[in-house]
Amino acid sequence: MPKAVVMSAAHAPLQVREIPEPALEPGAAVLRTLYSEVCGTDVHLHHGKLRVPFPIIPGHVSVGVVDKARGDLKDIDGQPIKEGDTVTFLDVHETCNNCWYCLVARQPTKCPNRKVYGISYSATEGLLGGWAEAIWMKPGVKMIKIPRDLDPDTFIGGGCGLVTALHAVDMAQIRLDESVAVLGVGPVGQSCVAFASLSGAGEIIAVGAPEDRLAFAKRMGATHALDLDIPPEARLETIRRLTGGRGVDAVIEASGSPDAVSQALDMVRDGGRVVVCGHYTDNGAIEMHPHWQLNRKHVELKGCWGSRYDHFHRAVSLTARFGAMKPWREMVSGRFGLDRAGDALAAVENRTAIKALIVPN
Ligand SMILES: [Zn+2]
Ligand SMILES: [Zn+2]
Repeated sequence: MPKAVVMSAAHAPLQVREIPEPALEPGAAVLRTLYSEVCGTDVHLHHGKLRVPFPIIPGHVSVGVVDKARGDLKDIDGQPIKEGDTVTFLDVHETCNNCWYCLVARQPTKCPNRKVYGISYSATEGLLGGWAEAIWMKPGVKMIKIPRDLDPDTFIGGGCGLVTALHAVDMAQIRLDESVAVLGVGPVGQSCVAFASLSGAGEIIAVGAPEDRLAFAKRMGATHALDLDIPPEARLETIRRLTGGRGVDAVIEASGSPDAVSQALDMVRDGGRVVVCGHYTDNGAIEMHPHWQLNRKHVELKGCWGSRYDHFHRAVSLTARFGAMKPWREMVSGRFGLDRAGDALAAVENRTAIKALIVPN
């Protein structure tokens, strides 16, 4: 039986357990896992900050090789997916296309029926998380073959942050030469910088810590880096100086700090856009000033939750196209076997690794 890491409850030590392989119904497959990432969300899960059906097998973005497949599996172009193919898959599954959010609001990321591998499936249901030797692809899971010109290390280096960042950069509607501030230099912030730069942004100001992550953001395309050691007023002054006194056209908040949302509203120019994607879990409340920070500034403030298939699809394609230019693969600073998943989680929590990978086989 394949081994998997099981998170049995919040704060409980991770265990390695054997989980039965599924009986494959037509359209299903089993992957032999190459990599599964350790994301900040996994740290939040372990802290009990998201309501999930414990016990779970963590790991939502993964790359694997199709080991067994039953029936005709095809990608969205109608190309066959066969045993031996290296694939990744959209972790979000069972978006129903049959509810009010799917059909009327057309906001499928808010579909109440969606399930996410590694987060909202229970380990009692089977191999439905990536920190495992094998992952069960239920029928209908959207798999994408890793293109020949894409090193799987590049894709998984960007990982889940790629998809979130692409959604956020889309929502920020960056035009050529516009200025952008990205708050937070974790995996999401790094990919926001990369995609802003690929979108033709002018000044790209990364704000965060520690110093090595800011240096990495410059390699991703940031034109300026502002350390959190600099007081917020001084950071604001620098941003105004770089933008003719007006503030940046768009700010993407990817740090998860509640104060950063207020700072974003101060940094943005009148009539600009602020996208918040860093608050996937509840990090607390802030005070804001509706007159000065929002209404009078004529600011668009947008929340960005989850991602859709189109973000995932384009993220694969973008890493294939620009992987040589943007050093996503170098974001991986730790690789851990299943028995060391606890160390991997600690490395991400303590920020000793921008990105850690579980390498189960
Ligand atoms: Zn739905
Ligand atoms: Zn994630």
